[in-house]
Amino acid sequence: MSQKMLAAIKKKASAGAELVETQIPQPNTDEVLIKVKACSICGTDKHIYTWDKWAASRISTPLIFGHECCGEVVEVGSNVRSIKVGDYISAETHIPCLHCFQCKTGNMHLCQNLVILGVDRDGIFAEYATIPEICCWKNDSTLPTDIASIQEPFGNAVYTVMESNVSAKKIAIIGDGPIAAFACGISKAMGAAVIYNLGMMPFNLDICRKMGANFSINVTADKKYIERIIDETNGGVDVVLDMAGNKPAVNDGFSILRRMGTFTSFGIAPAPFEFDMAKNIVFKGARIIGINGRKMFDTWYQIKNILDSKLVDPRPVISHILPFTDFIKAIDMAVSADIPTSKIVLNMIPKN
Ligand SMILES: [Zn+2]
Ligand SMILES: [Zn+2]
Repeated sequence: MSQKMLAAIKKKASAGAELVETQIPQPNTDEVLIKVKACSICGTDKHIYTWDKWAASRISTPLIFGHECCGEVVEVGSNVRSIKVGDYISAETHIPCLHCFQCKTGNMHLCQNLVILGVDRDGIFAEYATIPEICCWKNDSTLPTDIASIQEPFGNAVYTVMESNVSAKKIAIIGDGPIAAFACGISKAMGAAVIYNLGMMPFNLDICRKMGANFSINVTADKKYIERIIDETNGGVDVVLDMAGNKPAVNDGFSILRRMGTFTSFGIAPAPFEFDMAKNIVFKGARIIGINGRKMFDTWYQIKNILDSKLVDPRPVISHILPFTDFIKAIDMAVSADIPTSKIVLNMIPKN
């Protein structure tokens, strides 16, 4: 194939991106080429677009960014065995080396030589994209493309909740972005007794409530929430799922965590910060769990079961669906402080 495709390319090491025509990539022997049907914008993409410190230290340009997608396989490399032309797939973002200790012991998602789609190599904000066979997840043909596209972040929430044993527990979910909202729905479905949701954006707190949060707390407006939660739960929640990661969020999370409680850490702080380990972990006897990515592929099977059985409807988290040709408008909305958004999905419009 040697035609051109439309792609969102980060050409320069500065803020912005361009939606331009470029060459359709060729899959290598262990990759497939997909015709992208839908893609969605992640926090990572916002960092790359705005070119923050992390992006400047990690990203080499030019780069087609984006990693959340679904598409139809149109070509397969000569070594590809499990995927065929016509398959409808979503992509796991973590590309493992298959040879290191973690890869060989069932933890490919934490590979020592991890390559991330749309970060360390070209991604999927394009009409076509190459995906390694190991990262292809076959969808049922009936799965709507918007939902197929958001399974990757939905999977972050599934992995976080499943590791945290929330059933019959009083829990707090910190953060109000798409993954926190998914975590509210999944925790509810997994039988969390009470879900407190702490966030800052009324629009996003509403989505979290729709997904299953019992109590939503706007931390910018409510100054007494820590004392109140500790009081209402007789000493703190059993489990905290931290989907925000910044210093105030982490400190709030430990403040409302009961002794011997579980703190599950998924959110990523923009920079290292000072933290009282003795008070928050040692004296509290806290259990700490770190979450990165999704288990390959335990989490994906769980995602499928949750979606197939309709245990959770992820749709309230999709705040906008736009055509891919509006990519720049969509990502400008995603990074804007004034326009409320949650998960933004971009649909490919077939060419005439
Ligand atoms: Zn993502
Ligand atoms: Zn590895």
